[in-house]
Amino acid sequence: MSEPIVTTPLRERASNALRDRFLHEALDIATTKFIALRREAFGDFPQGEALRDRARAIKEATLQRLDAHLETLVANVERVGGHVHFATTAEEARRIILDIARRTGARMAVKSKSMATEEIHLNDALEAIGVTPVETDLGEYIIQLAHERPSHIIAPAIHKTKGQVAELFSRELHRPGLAADPEVLTKIAREELREKFLQADLGITGANFAVAETGTVVLVTNEGNGRMTTSLPRVHVAVMGVEKVIPSMTDLAVFLAILAKSATGQKLSVYTTLVQGPRRPGELEGPDEFHLVLLDNGRIAQIAGPLRESLYCLRCGACLNVCPVYRQIGGHAYGYTYPGPIGILLTAMLNGPASVKDLAHASSLCGACADACPVRIDIPKMLIELRRQVDEERIAPWPERVVFKAFAHILAHPVLYRLGARIGRTLQRPFVRDGRIRALPSFFGQWTRTRDLPPVAARTFQERWRDRS
Ligand code: SF4
Repeated sequence: MSEPIVTTPLRERASNALRDRFLHEALDIATTKFIALRREAFGDFPQGEALRDRARAIKEATLQRLDAHLETLVANVERVGGHVHFATTAEEARRIILDIARRTGARMAVKSKSMATEEIHLNDALEAIGVTPVETDLGEYIIQLAHERPSHIIAPAIHKTKGQVAELFSRELHRPGLAADPEVLTKIAREELREKFLQADLGITGANFAVAETGTVVLVTNEGNGRMTTSLPRVHVAVMGVEKVIPSMTDLAVFLAILAKSATGQKLSVYTTLVQGPRRPGELEGPDEFHLVLLDNGRIAQIAGPLRESLYCLRCGACLNVCPVYRQIGGHAYGYTYPGPIGILLTAMLNGPASVKDLAHASSLCGACADACPVRIDIPKMLIELRRQVDEERIAPWPERVVFKAFAHILAHPVLYRLGARIGRTLQRPFVRDGRIRALPSFFGQWTRTRDLPPVAARTFQERWRDRS
């Protein structure tokens, strides 16, 4: 189980985010660009829709025989000289990695971007035993310097403007007066990081996929840091959720065809790195040791649970870019490792439904996420399911439960509905201004605090219908 990253209530986090002008500027530019690029990429790719169906079918079929595919993966990773570890919890995963670090005498670890290592809060644990973790993905490097957490699944520093990054680099890297020029800033990051790759003893990565039939771990990156992380340090540790296994190389081709298009609108990401065990005799590059950590952390329980479909997720980030809530409040306001619509489901998976009693409502259920998702995950359906669970398990506050129960009862009984409309019309009179209700008293004011309420119509549809017939 992972801890919440912030402890202030969601309402306060969201309000703060809504007031942050820089956050809006950065989010607006980045998400608008991602949406357009994705649309263009699929617009030029007529096979895209069929491949999305195929990818979804592969994910479902793999989940149905997950144990068998994992067994094949383990056998094949070991066949090529790798070691496989199974971690039931985040704590166990941390312990496994720390043991490897201690045994190999590691002092520095370079990391390529990995949400799985964020999920298990690995950096803090490494620091606690004297191993310096260095993020080498540019976005991750930025947020590590800023002592923050990623706010997007594929673009961790999406919440920062280039001006903010220039200030940060000037301050943290002692290079005063840097211009807000992405090319200059990238060059500086590259200079800083090159040395670290050469000094590091440990390379830590996530994995986009692991191919069972060959024991291959697949990394999809744009910066080449994944290749350096997997080939320069003497030990490579890959951390991966168990659901990332896929049966074959043919399946991999299907996912690669849609992943980058969904994420960044590219035909393919710049680097697709295939790792098969440690360096073999005669090879010049590669680590002495390769370890694959297979992480459960609540995933396996959901194979038969209401959040099963969220195990299809490729972590492309497309659902975040199109979500009207994410686009307003950004990733940090969600408060946990995984932001956005899929993040709510993953948070519930990792931390239980009580962790999302508020977040489950942070969605308009507009369905944009499901439309954008390359594997067509029905996120709104599962959010509704979570809301039901939060209600049934009495996690929601009692006034909310009572009001919604009463409302459901009224909607299900026509006589009560008609009576309610008449009473509502009378009671609302003091509050209607210019055809809207902008403020309600007491508990009901929670609703109108952030949005208007349409008033009960002067004549309901049923009354008008009756008059016409
Ligand atoms: S739910 Fe779908 S759209 Fe969202 S990150 Fe996962 S694969 Fe991408």
